Amino acid sequence: MSKGVLTVVSGFSGAGKGTVMKRLIQKYDDYALSISVTTRNPREGERDGIEYFFKTKEEVESMIENDEFLEYARYVDNYYGTPRFYVEEMLAKGKNVILEIEIQGAMQIKAKNPEAVLVFVTPPSFEELRNRLVGRGTETADVIESRLRRASEEAEGMLSYDYILVNDQVEDCVDRLHQIILSERAKAQRN
Ligand code: 5GP
Repeated sequence: MSKGVLTVVSGFSGAGKGTVMKRLIQKYDDYALSISVTTRNPREGERDGIEYFFKTKEEVESMIENDEFLEYARYVDNYYGTPRFYVEEMLAKGKNVILEIEIQGAMQIKAKNPEAVLVFVTPPSFEELRNRLVGRGTETADVIESRLRRASEEAEGMLSYDYILVNDQVEDCVDRLHQIILSERAKAQRN
């Protein structure tokens, strides 16, 4: 059995990545979505061990010391990290593993795993991004502003990704992402 493809999906906060990932996993087989650890507070409806593992700063710092993360980063005053164990196990089982992480983490993954595929998801426009963040209603105005500032800083980094996916229509975006991963898997098998 061939090893799965490790795919990193990043995108501005509010680009709709979460929806695209959930749909990808429902619609197609052989995917596993990594669950990250974070120190941020759960949003309404988020459950520990489903959307994230919610941990304290001290717990995360001890995981960093024990080398339990494939990558980790600080994002708007919180730690976010990918636990190594699950990802390695799923890849070995032939699953295509998706990491939905921000750009600093994506660069760490690419440096350590050059075969990883990096995909950047953008909304059709910056205005649309603001509308989505406001419409979601889960963050305060200050947090929305910091996330938009962070988005404009990240825009340059988008050029380091292998693919840029415009999320205008969710279903279409999901299908295009699946096609990218299938082609990359076929390419990896030839090498
Ligand atoms: P949110 O707070 O909106 O759930 O996530 C904020 C940002 O952190 C998003 O860009 C998300 O992709 C990123 N993120 C989530 N988990 C991880 C992780 O494990 N590592 C890194 N580097 N970024 C993460």
